[in-house]
Amino acid sequence: MNEEKIEFTIKWKGKSFPISFLSTSTVEELKEYLYIATKINPKHQKLLGLKSNKNKKITNNLALKDLKIPKSKKVMLMGTPEKIIQKVQEIPVDLPLIIDDLDFEYDNEEYKNIRTTELEKKLDSFVENLEINIINKPRAGKKLVVFDIDKTVFDMKGIGSSSLELTRPGLHPMLERIYPHYDIIFWSQTKWNWIEAKLFEMGVLSNPKFGVNFVLDITSMLKITSNYYKKRISKSMTKEEKEKLEKRKHWIKPLEIIWRRYPDFYNEKNTIHIDDLGRNFVLNPKNGLLIKQFIKKAGISQDKELFYLTEYLLYIADHYDDVRVLDHKHWKKEWTRINQSRFKN
Ligand SMILES: [Mg+2]
Repeated sequence: MNEEKIEFTIKWKGKSFPISFLSTSTVEELKEYLYIATKINPKHQKLLGLKSNKNKKITNNLALKDLKIPKSKKVMLMGTPEKIIQKVQEIPVDLPLIIDDLDFEYDNEEYKNIRTTELEKKLDSFVENLEINIINKPRAGKKLVVFDIDKTVFDMKGIGSSSLELTRPGLHPMLERIYPHYDIIFWSQTKWNWIEAKLFEMGVLSNPKFGVNFVLDITSMLKITSNYYKKRISKSMTKEEKEKLEKRKHWIKPLEIIWRRYPDFYNEKNTIHIDDLGRNFVLNPKNGLLIKQFIKKAGISQDKELFYLTEYLLYIADHYDDVRVLDHKHWKKEWTRINQSRFKN
């Protein structure tokens, strides 16, 4: 007796894979076949357009006959081959000791006298009302790194690729290596559920070699008004027009809400905040480390920022009690200088 067959085509990166499986075969078997064909680990395979007949979740032991195959008989596969994932997370052997410093300046005048009584009050109420969901308890004697997410360790806009490909190269090895010295917090200007989804997709919450202490979202950020106007003032403007001009407003990440919440663990001496936006550091400029934006282009990224950053953070952990000794705004210059004096003789 001939058993019924299920036939459709899987499309991946312009290639077609005709599928002809017994209807009793499982999703797991399909994924294993796709692993052989594409080298994408079954865990990282995403099949777009496949649904279950009975509104059930698609699990590995579901039979193919219980799937609703699209009318077009075409199913898109998303995912990154194992080798490429390993490649982008591999530690490069040839990190140069001198790095080009392309960081930009931001203007301190714009934020002169920014600490108004109103701002102080806002901070007080933040510290009081802030809800923090601890994932891993703060550890005594550790320094703290606060990481931004978007464009610092992740680029969400690279549509069509898997999340692992959108993760900045070196993120996992960095977190694994700094974890013995630093507690780890992520702080992003989005809502909590987005942050959680991104961290989960990057595998950051499931790596057993380090732990994230907690996560802060946009509700922990403060909006400030700077001393600069949104638009340039032109000479031809009338007095009335000038009075109507709006000053630049933006969000910032005030580290002191963390320090005041956990004074036994974190303070201005032991915290480094890594972000691609300098304006987030306004209240704590000496703790801010400006990192080059991570923008994922097609193909394997050559971005090495996190590999340099790992060495820099490990050096600080080894040499300084007070992290403010170094100028993190120009951290690449600092790292070059340190290396030059270390290897002089
Ligand atoms: Mg960012």
